[in-house]
Order: sequence, then structure tokens, then C-alpha cells
Amino acid sequence: MTTMQSNKIPVAVLGATGSVGQRFIQLLDGHPWFEVVALTGSERSMGKKYHEYCHWVLSEPMPDWAKRMLILPSKPELTKVPLAFSALPSNKASEIEPLYAQAGVAVCTNAGAYRREEDVPILLPEINPDHTALVDSQRQRRGWSGFIATNPNCTTTGVSIVLKVFQELFGVKKAFMVSLQALSGAGYPGVASMDILDNVIPYIEGEEEKLEWEPLKILGSLNNGILSQADFQISAHANRVAVSDGHLVCLSVQFNNPTGEDQIVMAVQDALSEYKLPEISSDLPSSPDPVIALSREKDRPQPRLDRMTGEGMTTVVGRIRRDPILDIKLAVLSHNTIRGAAGGSIYNAELLVKKGYISDSNV
Ligand code: NAP
Repeated sequence: MTTMQSNKIPVAVLGATGSVGQRFIQLLDGHPWFEVVALTGSERSMGKKYHEYCHWVLSEPMPDWAKRMLILPSKPELTKVPLAFSALPSNKASEIEPLYAQAGVAVCTNAGAYRREEDVPILLPEINPDHTALVDSQRQRRGWSGFIATNPNCTTTGVSIVLKVFQELFGVKKAFMVSLQALSGAGYPGVASMDILDNVIPYIEGEEEKLEWEPLKILGSLNNGILSQADFQISAHANRVAVSDGHLVCLSVQFNNPTGEDQIVMAVQDALSEYKLPEISSDLPSSPDPVIALSREKDRPQPRLDRMTGEGMTTVVGRIRRDPILDIKLAVLSHNTIRGAAGGSIYNAELLVKKGYISDSNV
């Protein structure tokens, strides 16, 4: 166990130099429960001081404590923490994250490597805090004292929160969506400037598949440790646009049991603006306030103007109107590196601490 001056839980950030890793460092600066004691990187960066190697791209300054830290290899015996936040590329996460879980570490990850595993939860504390119970099945099945808990793909995040409200309101039959995804979602340095300036790229590898199945797992129901997926269909188009941060999704939904045509827009607006966090998720350091913000202007939400609503943890919706083919259409905005990545993982870890799955005696 790493020696701590404070009584905070010592944590590592795996893949600390990239787009999401930097966001972890910024959001964990001064966190009331967690203290960063280890940073890892690839062979390119290990052994260097964080400020010597990291090309910091956030507008907030790099914290002084991070500047001095040495970048380590991603090995649990070197990082020596009970909790690791992972911003590893998926192909590295698939090898490294199980080694951590086996060594007793709670891994809260952004990587997609384990999202499809039936005993690994995709958590959104706003809507499925009960899915933390999958950690028990995972530990039992795999013999791990630690575990892996994932957050969704950054674009899935806001859309799933909205679909949960609709699932409770009228039931969801079909959803159709078109994403306009920010550049930071492609990591750093991401898409070449010559490719994206004056342009929209109507393809993001693997993204449409994630958008079409992840919400079904997230909105599924858990009975006796077995997760049944939600039963509706999604069709998704994914596009990369020249926006720095904030994924906007144009979403159309058909309901199972809608009210009469005249009341449908009002009912949807009310349900979205009145949605409350489950009690267990409501007073955590990263709990969004509000969970969902409703823009009433005809041309909002917009990434540049609205992505920092609720310190980047709020899902912002607007342009709610009738859909002439399905039932309703609207725009959904979520900050991809905060709510959709590092902020989401930190919120998951807070929930898992509250539920007793993480403590500083894990290892
Ligand atoms: P990125 O900017 O490309 O950063 C990748 C990071 O991984 C770098 O810190 C890199 O370190 C490190 N790395 C690579 N190989 C490694 C190894 N063998 N051991 C340890 N570290 C290694 O990518 P990103 O956008 O931050 O994404 C990170 C993960 O989060 C990915 O799985 C991604 O799919 C997921 N995600 C991203 C977003 C987003 O909005 N960007 C949202 C949700 C989820 P070096 O600099 O030392 O090479």
C-alpha cells in the first residue's frame, strides 16, 4: 500500500498522457476522496516526468503535483493502489486491466475491451446503479479480488440517460440517431487537421455498433446476477466534426405506449426536466446537478455554449418536437471527455466506494 499523508484513497491513472488521461488528472486535482499517487504510460513515456513528456491540451493548468510525477509502466506491483482509473487504448486495456483486477485492484475504465462481457457492468450512476451487483458475479466467476467496471462509449452516455427517461415514460420501441462527435473523442493528436478542417467525416470506426448495442445493456434489467438486455432496436450514424469537445446527437424515438399526439411533447419535456437521480447516486462528489438540463432556445444545445453545463457532467437536451415518422425528436449534448469519459469513471468509482466495493484496504 502506498503511504498517504491524507486519508484519501490512493489511485493510479493508467494511460495518463492522452486525451482522457489528462482529463482524469484535471478532475482528480483536489478530489475529496481520491488522491493520484501513480501515473502510467507506454514505452514512449515511461521513466520521464509527466510535464516533460505530456503535451497538455486542457485550458486548466497542469497541477503542480502531476508535473513532478514519474510515468511508470502499467504494472500493479509498481503502481500499488487499490483503485485504478484506466484511459488505456482498448487493445492494451484487454491485457493490462485483468492483471490489475486479479491483483485486487478496482479498475474503473473508459476502454471498450470488456464492455461486452456479461459479468462486467457498463455503469451510469444516473440510471443503473443496481448494475454494480455484476461485480459480485465477476469476482466469483473469475476468482478476482479486484474487478473491472466500465463506463459507456462517450456518445452512448447522454443518449442512454435520455432513453432511460423514455423507457420509464412510454417504453421505447425504436430509436434512430445521428451523432456529431468532437475531435477530442479521437484521442490526441487524433484526426489530422487537413482531414477535418472545412469538413465532416461520416465514419468513425466501430462507433455505430457501440451506439446500437451499449444502450441495450445499460438499460437492461438485472435479476439474480443475470442481465437481460432492453428489448428495442437502434439505428445509428456516426460523424466526426470540427468541434473540440462535446458530442451532439440528433435522436428520434418511437414509443411503445405514447399519450395522445397533442400532449406528447409536453410529457417528454416534463419527464426529462423532472428526472431525479437514484438516491444512492445523488450526493456523491461528481453527481450532476442538474442531471438533465432542458434548453428552450430554438437553436440549442450547442457544444461550444452548453458542454460545460453542470461542470460538464449534465446531459443537455433541446429542440424537442414531434417526429413525423417516429414519435419524438430532439438534440442531446454530452461532454465527451468529462461526462462521457474521465468524469463518468470517477462518478462510477464514487458509487462503488459508497456501495462498499472499493476501500483503501483492497490491496
Ligand atoms: P489517447 O489520447 O490516444 O491516449 C492513449 C493513452 O494510452 C496515452 O496516455 C498513451 O501513453 C497510453 N498508452 C498507450 N499504450 C500504452 C501501454 N502499453 N501502457 C500504458 N499506457 C499506454 O486516447 P484517449 O482518447 O485518451 O482514449 C483512452 C481510452 O478511453 C480509449 O480506450 C478510448 O476508446 C476511451 N474513451 C475515450 C473517450 C474520448 O472522448 N477521448 C471517451 C470515452 C472513452 P503514451 O503517451 O505514453 O504513449
